[in-house]
Amino acid sequence: MLQPFTCTLNPARIIFGPGKLAEVANEIVGQHCRKALILSTPFQQQDAEKLSEALGYVSAGVFAEAAMHTPVDLTEKALAAFEASGADCVLSLGGGSTIGLGKAIAYRNDCPQIVVATTYAGSEVTPILGQTENGVKTTVRDASILPEVVIYDPELTLGLPVGMSVTSGMNAMAHAVEGIYAQDRNPIASMMAVDGVRALRDALPAIVKDPKNRVARGEALYGAWLCGTVLGSVGMALHHKLCHTLGGSFDLPHADTHTIMLPHTAAYNAEAAGEAMKPLADLFGGDIGGGLWDFAKSLGAPMALKDLGTTEADMDRAAEIAVKNPYWNPRPVEKDAIRALLQRAWEGARPQS
Ligand code: NAD
Repeated sequence: MLQPFTCTLNPARIIFGPGKLAEVANEIVGQHCRKALILSTPFQQQDAEKLSEALGYVSAGVFAEAAMHTPVDLTEKALAAFEASGADCVLSLGGGSTIGLGKAIAYRNDCPQIVVATTYAGSEVTPILGQTENGVKTTVRDASILPEVVIYDPELTLGLPVGMSVTSGMNAMAHAVEGIYAQDRNPIASMMAVDGVRALRDALPAIVKDPKNRVARGEALYGAWLCGTVLGSVGMALHHKLCHTLGGSFDLPHADTHTIMLPHTAAYNAEAAGEAMKPLADLFGGDIGGGLWDFAKSLGAPMALKDLGTTEADMDRAAEIAVKNPYWNPRPVEKDAIRALLQRAWEGARPQS
């Protein structure tokens, strides 16, 4: 039976397809802007410079210092560059780190953001910003943070390394898995969650086999859009909180942590989430936890937290932090059960429900 729901859809303009990067200049003008400051990481600086050259007078230059976890001092430096450049919007070319910097700028000066997304993490369609100051990561949600335009051009993902394609794809799936049992779930977000996971389930093995497979790259980016939209629409639970704890307390890599944890958190919630989770479980042979674990293993994904440099004592601490700040989850968050879950994730063992 359909449960009562409230559904808020985030306004965003999505432009999808091979070669769509060519539409960037029109989109800047479409936002009633004159010049964009192009943001990237140092790794993607060359691509950003190339784009800047192609844009000509619509480009206000490149700021290529985006970094993981959006440090506030870097945002301040980027803001100064934004003002000095005469830009009136930002153009973020990259994954969650670069998009995070664009969001942090827009959160402070409300400038329009155009994003060209080149990973599958999904940040480009959420009004959520995580930023770090003095070693503490905080998360804010605000309408000014949501990018106005997102361009998904699969051609730009052909060079995304296979390992990163897999982990950022699993990171996207995690948004959908948690979104489908969210306390504030709604039928639209759930539909997106199912097709998003389906698309990534089909695309990732094809990308592992042939990273230049354009059809699979397009399918993966489509899945990333849907899964990211779910993250931006409904609340997250145990999985995202545990990954936040692990990432924040032990400085673990974001996408790898999500990849390792997802089968275990999904298994933890499988029974309690029951009917809501069934369409996703069906995509993995009926057992969501075991099915996701087998899927990740078949793709050569990282499987064990111990391989990320953590110790068993760290797992004790993580379990303690996780139960200290109770939050909504379909199954109660119990310390012994969470510690057992973390042990399996640490060892790289197949999950148990
Ligand atoms: P990333 O942005 O950190 O990128 C990792 C590296 O890959 C960078 O060096 C980048 O330049 C490079 N790269 C990106 N695209 C490439 C491509 N197509 N080809 C070659 N190299 C490429 O990685 P990510 O996983 O996209 O983002 C992780 C960050 O995003 C985390 O800090 C996480 O907290 C954040 N995030 C935020 C949200 C949100 O809604 N706020 C959602 C998901 C992730």
